[in-house]
Amino acid sequence: MSERGELPRGELFLDGQWTPARSRSTFETLDPATEETLTRVARGGPEDVDEAVRAARAAFEGPCRRMTPVDRARLLTRAARTLESRAEEFARLETRDTGKPRTLSRSEIHGCVRYFDYYAGAADKIQGETVPLGPDYLDYTVREPVGVTAHITPWNAPLSMVCRSLAPALAAGNTAVVKPAEQAPLTALVLADVLQQAGWPAGTYNVVTGFGGEAGAALSGHPGIDSLTFTGSVPTGRTVLQAAGEHITPVILELGGKSPQIVFEDADLDRAAEEIAKGIYTNAGQYCDAGSRLLVHTSVREPLLERLTARTKQLRVGPGMDDPDMGPLISAAQRDRVLDYIEAGRSAGAHVVTGTADFPTGYFVAPTLLDGVRPDMRVAREEIFGPVLAVLTFGSEEEAAELANATEYGLAAGIHTRDVDRALCFARDVGAGYVMVNEYFSGGVESPFGGSKHSGYGRERGLAALDNYTRLRNVVLRI
Ligand code: NAD
Repeated sequence: MSERGELPRGELFLDGQWTPARSRSTFETLDPATEETLTRVARGGPEDVDEAVRAARAAFEGPCRRMTPVDRARLLTRAARTLESRAEEFARLETRDTGKPRTLSRSEIHGCVRYFDYYAGAADKIQGETVPLGPDYLDYTVREPVGVTAHITPWNAPLSMVCRSLAPALAAGNTAVVKPAEQAPLTALVLADVLQQAGWPAGTYNVVTGFGGEAGAALSGHPGIDSLTFTGSVPTGRTVLQAAGEHITPVILELGGKSPQIVFEDADLDRAAEEIAKGIYTNAGQYCDAGSRLLVHTSVREPLLERLTARTKQLRVGPGMDDPDMGPLISAAQRDRVLDYIEAGRSAGAHVVTGTADFPTGYFVAPTLLDGVRPDMRVAREEIFGPVLAVLTFGSEEEAAELANATEYGLAAGIHTRDVDRALCFARDVGAGYVMVNEYFSGGVESPFGGSKHSGYGRERGLAALDNYTRLRNVVLRI
C-alpha cells in the first residue's frame, strides 16, 4: 500500500506538495488486463510545468546547492532502502498499471533500487582533473551539476525509466521534473513519497502527469530546464529535439530499436532458443532493446525453429497479477497496432506461428513467430513493440552483418555462437550500441546503454550517465 492509500489520487507532486492540476482536469489510467479504470490522474499543462520548473530551480539554487556529495549519497541510499522496503507494493502497482507479470515488475523495481545504490556510490567520486599546461599555470577542471533536469519517460518500464536517469541526475547535484507516460504514471507518482521520506528537499523531485502534446510539449520547450532526457519513440524524439532546440537545451535521446539476434551454425541451439524467446517475449516485446529480428544460418533454421515454436506455444499468457510468462499489451491502440503488423506480415507472405492468448477482455496478443520474412517487408524493418519475432535467414557471415545492419536503428544486438573470435568480430561490425553474446538482456545498472542512428544518442547507466548530468568547466590560473 502506498503511504497515501493504494492508488495515488489525481494530483501532481510539485515543490514537495500534492496538488491538483491548474485546470483541475484529470484522466483515467487503465488496467490493461481488465480494461477497468484504476484511478484518475491529474492532467498537467503548461502552467503546472512552469510551477514544477520554478520549484526545481529554487531547490537547486537553495538546499541542493548546499548539500555535499556525501549528503547526496546518504539520501540516495536512504531512497534505495525505502524503495526496497516497499518493493512489493511498487511491483503490484506497476503490474496493475502496465499488465506486466509480477515477477517482472519485482525485477524492475529491484533494478530501481540498484540505480539508487549504484549512483549513491558514485556521488562523491564525480571529480575534475588538473591539466598540464606548464609550470606557470594551474589549470583545473570542475564537474558541476547542470541544474534543472527534465525527464520524459515511456510506459513500457515506467519506474525503471524514471530511476535510470533520475538517480545519476540527483547524485550529481541536480533537481528534476518528471513527465511520466500517460498510460502508466502511477509508480512515478508514488516514488515522490519515497524520496520525501528519504529526506530529499522539497522541489528536488517534481512530477507532472499529463499528455505528451500538453505537459510533455510544455516541458521539452521550457526555457527554464538545463537538460532533457527523453526516452520514447523516434517520431516524438524528433519533436522534443526541435522544441528543446529553441532554447539550445542539451537533449539525451533514448529511442526505439529493431534489434537482431543472430544465430550462427555453431550455436548451442537449446540455449539460443531460450534466449531468443526471452529477448522477444519478455514484457510482451515492449522493450526498446527487444530482440525482434531473428537472423539464423540456413543450416540450423529448422532445428532452431522447432525449439522456438515449441517455446512460443508453451508460454503462459495472462493477467500480470497471476504472474504468467507474458501479460497483455499496454493499450487497445498498441494491441491493434501489433495485430495490424502481424496481418501485414501475413499478407506480404510470412508464415504465422502463434501461441495462445484467448481472453474476452484485456489487450492480449499471443506470442507470435513470423517465419519466411524478407528484408524488404515492413515487419523486418519497423519497430512493432509487441511479442512478434520476424525470422530471416542468412548463408554467410557477410550476409548476416549486412542483414543485421539493414535497419535505421542501432540499439542492441544478440549473437549466438560458440566461437569467441567470430563473436568478437561480429560485435565489432554490428551497428548497435549494446551487444550481447550468448545471453539476451545481459548486463546491469553498471553497463552503459544507448543507441546509434535513429535509436538516439547519449548513454544511460554506468558511470557514463553522469556525463549527461554534469557540466565540465575549466579554470586557468597564471601563477
Ligand atoms: P512515445 O514517444 O509515444 O512517448 C514517450 C513519452 O513522450 C511519453 O511520456 C509521452 O507522453 C511523451 N510525449 C508524447 N508526445 C510528446 C510531445 N509532443 N512532446 C513531448 N513529450 C511527448 O513512446 P512510448 O510509446 O511511450 O514508448 C515506446 C517507445 O519508447 C518505443 O519506441 C521504445 O523503443 C522506446 N523506448 C526506448 C528506450 C531506450 O532506452 N532507448 C527505453 C524504453 C522505451
